[in-house]
Amino acid sequence: MKVFQDKNELIRLVGRLKENNNSIGFVPTMGALHDGHLSLIKEGFHKNTHVVVSIFVNPTQFDNAEDLKKYPRTLERDVTLLKTVSKDKIIVYAPTVDDIYGDDVASEHFKFSGLEHEMEGRFRKGHFDGVGTIVKRLFEIIKPDFAYFGEKDFQQLQIVKKLVENYDIPVKVIGCKIHRENDGLAMSSRNERLKPEYRKAAPFIYKTLKAAKTKFGSKSATKVTKWVEDEFAKHNLLELEYFIIADEKTLKPIKRKSKTKSYRAFIAAYADDIRLIDNIALK
Ligand code: AMP
Repeated sequence: MKVFQDKNELIRLVGRLKENNNSIGFVPTMGALHDGHLSLIKEGFHKNTHVVVSIFVNPTQFDNAEDLKKYPRTLERDVTLLKTVSKDKIIVYAPTVDDIYGDDVASEHFKFSGLEHEMEGRFRKGHFDGVGTIVKRLFEIIKPDFAYFGEKDFQQLQIVKKLVENYDIPVKVIGCKIHRENDGLAMSSRNERLKPEYRKAAPFIYKTLKAAKTKFGSKSATKVTKWVEDEFAKHNLLELEYFIIADEKTLKPIKRKSKTKSYRAFIAAYADDIRLIDNIALK
């Protein structure tokens, strides 16, 4: 398996592959890979001959220095896991901060039609400027035909689609279903940092989302939101940061239910000092 740290070598290889009519799928990750990431890569092979997987803990999208420091970095294990999917058709790009940013580790500023101000944008200041900066740079380096993003980070997926539209980037963005553990917890690189009692408690997040979905069939969004907030208030290990029912397109909190719109419920919660997010489609 080829693992590149240097973008110029990667650019040369991808250029050669494209000249020979290969199609390039791209899965950006921050590493500490799990089956959720692998499901995106496998999806990539449906439409592409090769899949580039980037592994890069992007400093500009972290608003919390401690979270950045503690983010798991497991490149060797990641490469071993990737080899179980394909030994020769996956190309890994694991750059240094310098290869991406040079000596200016800073975000560009983006407008994403207001998507950036909701939920994660509200609670993680500057997060989507960091995401926009890294995804745009990686698209410029890799020039993929298709790029795969998980619905686990649904707001990020919508923002990347907007980025591609705003900058006319010739890539097709594909959203992929959330991959879960057997007990319902959405897979996440952060899960491995959960202490056992918190890991045991964490499936409560998805259980509550599912119950909220059922309730939303007959109750108002305000009532459902209140119910979720009360459930978390009773829980002694998980702390709710937000529960929001929002329009899937605008990500604005729902005002009044409309049959013509699609809604999604979003949760961010803390398990100890680890922040977990999840969401569910309400249709
Ligand atoms: P990350 O490494 O957390 O930045 O995630 C890299 C990509 O994998 C993003 O597009 C995520 O949305 C996606 N992803 C992470 N966890 C999951 C999951 N449990 N199911 C599906 N996609 C996921």
